[in-house]
Amino acid sequence: MSSTQLLAELRDQQISTVILGGCDTHGVMRGKRIPVAQLPDFLDHGLPICDVFWVLHVDESDLVSRPAGHTGYFPTELQGYPDIHAKPDPSTLHIVPWHADTALLLCDWYLSDNTTMVPISPRGVLRNVLGRAEEMGYTALSALELEFYLLREKPGTPHLKRPAELTPLQEVSSTYGVVMGSLQEDVGALIRQQMLDYGLPIEACNPETGPGQFEITLHYGPSLKAADDAFLFKSGVKELAAQRELLATFMAKPNADWAGNSCHVHVSLQDLDGRGVFFDPAAPEQLSETMRHFAGGVLSTMREFSALMAPTPNSYRRFVPYSWAGTTATWGIDNRSVGLRAIRAGEHGTRLEHRQPGGDANPYVATAATLAGGLHGIKHAIEPTELMAGDVYSLPEDQVVTLPRSLGEAVDLLETSSVAREWFGDDFVDHFVALKRAELQAQARAVTDWEVARYLEAM
Ligand code: GLU
Ligand code: MG
Repeated sequence: MSSTQLLAELRDQQISTVILGGCDTHGVMRGKRIPVAQLPDFLDHGLPICDVFWVLHVDESDLVSRPAGHTGYFPTELQGYPDIHAKPDPSTLHIVPWHADTALLLCDWYLSDNTTMVPISPRGVLRNVLGRAEEMGYTALSALELEFYLLREKPGTPHLKRPAELTPLQEVSSTYGVVMGSLQEDVGALIRQQMLDYGLPIEACNPETGPGQFEITLHYGPSLKAADDAFLFKSGVKELAAQRELLATFMAKPNADWAGNSCHVHVSLQDLDGRGVFFDPAAPEQLSETMRHFAGGVLSTMREFSALMAPTPNSYRRFVPYSWAGTTATWGIDNRSVGLRAIRAGEHGTRLEHRQPGGDANPYVATAATLAGGLHGIKHAIEPTELMAGDVYSLPEDQVVTLPRSLGEAVDLLETSSVAREWFGDDFVDHFVALKRAELQAQARAVTDWEVARYLEAM
């Protein structure tokens, strides 16, 4: 869509306010609201915005400092936190149904020269991976499956509560429940309709195994759009819930006794003529050599990319056997106990599902990491380990490659990953690692409910 068409569309829809927003490292939307008359200027030059948001802790309690000896891009007070520019991508126009006369445009982040992309931008990192896929002769397609809880908690207050005190929308689970009149369906119907009106490709929606837990799957599409859709869904559902004094959370494990929230990433590749390249009727199991090498690359990078899929200390609480979270670098055909599930569905449906990412993963980063691992595998013709049949959760740890069980272990692996540095750039990796180390320090200082319950009287 050209700028002229975009402005005409906004006039036709009687839009008065435009949200210009982009994704930060945590997966939070940052930007500004502008009166529609200001848009032409910002379309050309980008919207100036202070670069400090890249170093905010996720709860905004503090700023992350540049690590000693760090040399790449890293916003600091020493540079006075200058402006960067949010450049709207006209192809991402969405009319926001739950705000009056409001549209939204997703932005890419540029440095003040207006031509260099901010090297730590998640959407920029995904763009780079997709550019390299294209150079290799592939178009990447993906879809994200989002799990989340709706809680009867007023946004802005739940941090005062203990996990056991959180009240889910519905106290009992109703896995795949479709009985009309359930408490979940009242809100589920609203979410589906508002998201369809928002222009998101809702494919299916069901109660998941936790109390008040939902799963929404989004229809697959080109990988940048699929990540945009998931990012918009996550921020949108939080707003919709908040308008009803509910809290939507994609936190990986809000309560140890509830099922975790995942964000499975489904991926496949087409050649530049639109032919699916993962399906080969003549190959063993109908899985093409390209798909096998792609799987080999994902499996071989799964441990070192874990922090990108499971980015908080809480993310690792999901990784217990029989939680249906990917806990091992294994693959199998339609097997939900492995880390990477192969799905066979003809030329256009054959795909891989990465089962490690949590609901707390940044959709751009999780997509970029899945694709980079796979493309690395194709580039180096990496043979995957054998396809696993049966219950992989029951296998002893010396028979399978186990994924990291803590953020600390995952961050150490990411920091020394040459594949991560090759595909995402040193600036992105170093900034991501610094943010995660700051998070680990904050966690190390916290005195938790568990510690008080366990030690207060006993010690
Ligand atoms: N909730 C599970 C997890 O945290 C995933 C369930 C599923 O297979 O959809 O990984
Ligand atoms: Mg699910």
